[in-house]
Formats: sequence, C-alpha cells, structure tokens
Amino acid sequence: MSRGIVFLVGAGPGDPGLMTRRSLELIATADAILYDRLIPPGALDGAPDGAELRFVGKRPGDPALAQAEINALMVDLARAGKRVVRLKGGDPFVFGRGGEEAEALAAAGVPFEVVSGVTAGVAAPAYAGIPVTHRDGASAVAFVTGHEDPEKPDSALDWEALARFPGTLVLYMGVRNLPLVAERLLAAGRDATEAAAVVQRGTQPGQRIVNGTLSDIAERAEAAGVGPPAVTVIGPVAGLRETIAWLERRPLHGEVVAVTRARAQASGLAGRLRELGAEVVETPAIRIEPLAITLAPPESYSLICFTSPNGVRLYFEALGRDARALGGVTVAAIGPGTAAELARNGIHADVVPERFVAEGLLAALPDRLLRGGRILVARAAEARDALPDGLRERGADVDIAALYETVAEPLDEAAREGLARATYVTFTSSSTVRFLLESGGKVPQSARVVSIGPITTATAREYGLEVDVEAERHDIDGLVDALTADAAARRVPAA
Ligand code: SAH
Repeated sequence: MSRGIVFLVGAGPGDPGLMTRRSLELIATADAILYDRLIPPGALDGAPDGAELRFVGKRPGDPALAQAEINALMVDLARAGKRVVRLKGGDPFVFGRGGEEAEALAAAGVPFEVVSGVTAGVAAPAYAGIPVTHRDGASAVAFVTGHEDPEKPDSALDWEALARFPGTLVLYMGVRNLPLVAERLLAAGRDATEAAAVVQRGTQPGQRIVNGTLSDIAERAEAAGVGPPAVTVIGPVAGLRETIAWLERRPLHGEVVAVTRARAQASGLAGRLRELGAEVVETPAIRIEPLAITLAPPESYSLICFTSPNGVRLYFEALGRDARALGGVTVAAIGPGTAAELARNGIHADVVPERFVAEGLLAALPDRLLRGGRILVARAAEARDALPDGLRERGADVDIAALYETVAEPLDEAAREGLARATYVTFTSSSTVRFLLESGGKVPQSARVVSIGPITTATAREYGLEVDVEAERHDIDGLVDALTADAAARRVPAA
C-alpha cells in the first residue's frame, strides 16, 4: 500500500487555462479529490475513473461541511493510504483556510504538500485590465478580507492603517460589505476620488466590471447588481483599465459560439474561437464510429484520395503499416486539414485542390492519373458520390474504402442549455446539420448560423435553416475568419 499524502492545491480563479501543470498532474493521479465550489469548469475532467470526488464546499441551502470535518476527512483518507487532493479556488494559502488545513495535517502527522495557485486578487484585476502594482504610484499592494456578515464588519481590520496604506487595496469580500467598507475607509481619511473597480467572476466567461471612485463604487456596484464572487480594487491602478482593458477588446468577446462537430474533433476550432474571446459551448451532434474493414494493399492502387482527417487516421489504423506502404502511390487530399493529418503520418500529399470539395479535387487531378488508373477513395460510409462518380466518368477504376460512419450524438442537458445561449451556431459538415436538427437541437432565432461551405449550406436549407454566414475557404480557418468578419461587421462602431 502506498503511503497516504494530502496535496493542498490551488485551482486558480476560474479560467481553466490558469490551472497549474502540477495541479493537473495531481488531479490525474488522485485517489480522492475534496473540492470547493469555486473551481474551474472541467477541473475534475482529468481525474482517474475510480477516484472518489467529494464536494465539501458551501452550497446554497445545504449545510456546509464544517472545517473540522474536512480536516478529519483528509486525515482519515491519507491514513487509509490514499493520495488526497484538496482542491481549492485561487491559491490555497490566500484566504482559503489552507493554512488551517495544513496545521491540522501537521498536527496529525500526515504528510502533505502545498501547490500554489493563481489568486483571484491578482488575476481578476489583470483580466479587467488592472495591474495591482505599477512603477508609477503603486509600489505596494494589500490583500484584505473581512467577514461575510455585514453586521460585524471586520473588527480584525485596522481601518486607519488601511486608509493610510501607500498602495493598492484588493478586497476579497462579499460586495454586500462594500458600502460599509468604503464608508470606513473614507471616515479614516482615504481619498474619496481614488479610482476603484469591482470585478465579478474574474477570468470567467461572465466576467463583469464596475468602475468608479471610492466614494461611489458601492452605489454603482449595487446599481449594476454585482454579486459574488467579486474582488474590489481601490487605487489609481483601477483607472488604468481604460487604457489596458484587453479582454473585452478581443474580436469575439461576448459571443457564445456553439461547436457542433464531434467532441473528438472540436478542440482545434474551440481553441481558436476562445483565443478570439468567444465563450465556446460544445454541442456535438455527431460522433465518428470506425467500421471494420479489410483493405487491399496500397501498392495495388495508382492513386489514393483522402477526403477527411478521420479517413487518414482510420486508414492507417486499419492498414496497420506506416508511411512506407504508400511509397509508390500518388496521394491526394481534399483540403489542408486532411493534408495535415497525412503529414502527421509521414506523407506529403501530391495533390491538394484550391477548393476543398469533391468537385475541387476532381478539377485538380490531371487526366493522366485517372484514365485506366486504379484509385482508392478513403472516406466515410455516407459520403457523397460526387468524387467516385467523377473519377469513373474520367476512365478510372474506383474502389471505395468506407472507414467510418458518422452517427448521431444525442444532445445532453448541458449541450441543450449551451445551444440555447448561442449567438453563433457553427456547422462544419452536412452531418452536423442533419444530426443536430434530427436530435431535436434548437438553433435559437437570434443566433447567426455559420456554414463551412456550399454543401453544408444546402443541407441547412433543406432543413429550413437559414444560413447567415458561409465560409469562403471551406476549412476551419476559413470558417473562423468568416465568423469573425461577421461579428466585426455587426458591432456597433464606437461613437
Ligand atoms: N483562495 C482564493 C480566495 C478564497 S476567498 C484565492 O486565492 O483566490 C473567496 C473570495 O475570493 C471571494 O469572496 C471573492 O472575493 C474572491 N474570488 C474568488 N474567485 C473569484 C473570481 N473568479 N473573481 C472575483 N473574485 C473572486
């Protein structure tokens, strides 16, 4: 039995990208994970299948587990030989009671390690365009917390000292306390005109910011209906936001983009959209189901046409040989994504058309390769017949390798909710349109529909779905470009 140990791990302020590498490694090897409410979405996705995942935070309506119970639970699990990850929002030692938990573990003689996290008091302001220190005028920063009970405002805090503090104040506390806190600071002599900002849900898709001065920030936050979790920044740096704000200046900020392609294929598109500032909701409508197939030796063909990255991947899996098997064969790819997948398998495609559709590939293939040639088309079972038909018309002997089937992926509750909030719905193939609509997916009236190309657009029309944007280049980059251009054109230009 391995020796039990507890890791006190910070999960950062909410953006999954701000989780540390160490935190992900530990989650992936944990026997038990005790987690709080303020951890990023998907933080536990990498946990091993059999791991015990236990929520120990506060949930509205539910009595929270007392700190002593959490401590006892960690000690018991570790003594039973488990690797325990105690996962907390932000940094475990910044207002997270991580110190108390470490004390309890030390007292019990249980080995533990501490894994720092990105604290909300630095990251939420940063995502709002506020550096908590600055060479001009903010050479110190104070992290301050108070009780959640507005009736007992922070007897532990020395308001005079905070009012005199020569630097930025970052308050971790309920916005309900803000009126009282501002009042105390003003009464103790802090400058009423000093810039202030409240950042709610910092680093998360719903991040909101309210700006003001120390004298009016409480009122403004209340008027804006700001709720937890939020940090308040008081200091001249709060005014830098006007210049430095970057998050909301990204081209797709505020857009919620639904990605309907198979979950296994979604990450490239999702990543590009997120980088442009969009909130991405994965609403996979399809799944790739490999088909059992026996392939003729590649040497028996003069030309092999690949029509999708999946086709390339599954062809090599089914073949069970490497690139050398195709040494004497001409290879054509329908588009750059397929060519890239070929390259990953060690093959440089001989032909890639300018238009990434069957007709484009047909036009790019010279007659000498076709007349009398033996050609394999490696593709999905349900693909259009335009390519094999066209090849046959031009005198080729064509085999089809149906490597996979595209099947419907039923929409789960999270996908349905995501789709309902979408401002853009993207379709990367006819099958994504067909299966999304057939499985009862509702494209919101107000959402813009984006199609990768004319075939997908035609399928959408057949299903009565109006396409607002069609990519000029029929690949993922082309789709992202078209969506981004549409969003830019629809933005009300700043007055
Ligand atoms: N250990 C955490 C803080 C826990 S105390 C850390 O290092 O960040 C909880 C308080 O942190 C909340 O009341 C709020 O003030 C702040 N907080 C946590 N996550 C936040 C977020 N994403 N945006 C703004 N404030 C946040």
